[in-house]
Amino acid sequence: MDNASGIQAKERIYIIGHKNNDTDSVCAAIAYADLKSRIDKSNAFVAARPSEINNETKFVLDYFNVKAPGLLSNADGKKLILVDHNQESQRVDGAKIENIIEVLDHHNVNFASGIPIPFHAEAAGSTSTLIARKYFELKIPLTKEIAGVLLGGIVCDCVIFKSPITTDEDKKLARKLAKIAGVKDIDEFGISAFKAKSKWSDKKVDEIINTDYKEYDVGTFKYAITQVETVDPEELKARKGEIIGKIRQIKAEKSLGMVLLMVTDIVKEGCLLFAVADNDGIVEAAFSKKLKDNEMYLPGVISRKKQVIPPITAAITEKLGKK
Ligand code: MG
Ligand code: MG
Ligand code: MG
Repeated sequence: MDNASGIQAKERIYIIGHKNNDTDSVCAAIAYADLKSRIDKSNAFVAARPSEINNETKFVLDYFNVKAPGLLSNADGKKLILVDHNQESQRVDGAKIENIIEVLDHHNVNFASGIPIPFHAEAAGSTSTLIARKYFELKIPLTKEIAGVLLGGIVCDCVIFKSPITTDEDKKLARKLAKIAGVKDIDEFGISAFKAKSKWSDKKVDEIINTDYKEYDVGTFKYAITQVETVDPEELKARKGEIIGKIRQIKAEKSLGMVLLMVTDIVKEGCLLFAVADNDGIVEAAFSKKLKDNEMYLPGVISRKKQVIPPITAAITEKLGKK
């Protein structure tokens, strides 16, 4: 549409991550808006977030003096580029499939659209990795700030490279970004970010459960997995009764088949799994282990995406298939 001065009004395109932001989804939105703005002058790319940022993300943004994207809690009528997610249950409220013009992600694909759009989903450690790669491939110089937020996205999603989702490229790009961003010790930077998020003892149970809550569906079976990354799992174990009660409430309110909470110990590298399920057999079959009082311990398990969702999906398919 032409405006009064005869200059073409640029169309606004919002770049946005999943509900219940994490650092990767917020940092990816910021950096991808910067990159798109520099390669496509005909549109206006705006980074957005669907919800409040968490303390880890706040630490990363403050560290590099970058402002958080604006809040877009309802995207009705807005053109969107989705980063760090693709499936419907994780999209910002009001997102319409016909308004999604591109997807850039590193998760399993669960996306149906009537029209072809640029869609890139790749098993990288973070969405920030895929964006960093684009800058270097296109030889577009990164500012210190953008290099910093991309580093934050990679380091937090890869749990300082301890997560099995980490690839060699994640590490290589993180080192390049750290140089540009002026971060001398990547591990120390990552630990500080995790510590900023890890203070769970003074948090309300709602906050503990909602910070990284995601819903999934396998056919008609709907369930949720939420994750808490901590350097001190004992402080959450001490509140098990309260946590299980809340999980049970969410499961009932949302009519879910099960709700899992991963308490991920990033120091010992393992996961205490709390589970409330209609059928404990799904969780038990997934990990070949018995649930005792709604919990089991999974040594070496850090990644929801790589180590929990695949066996859970297989177990659901198996149980549902056999009815
Ligand atoms: Mg994410
Ligand atoms: Mg991610
Ligand atoms: Mg994460």
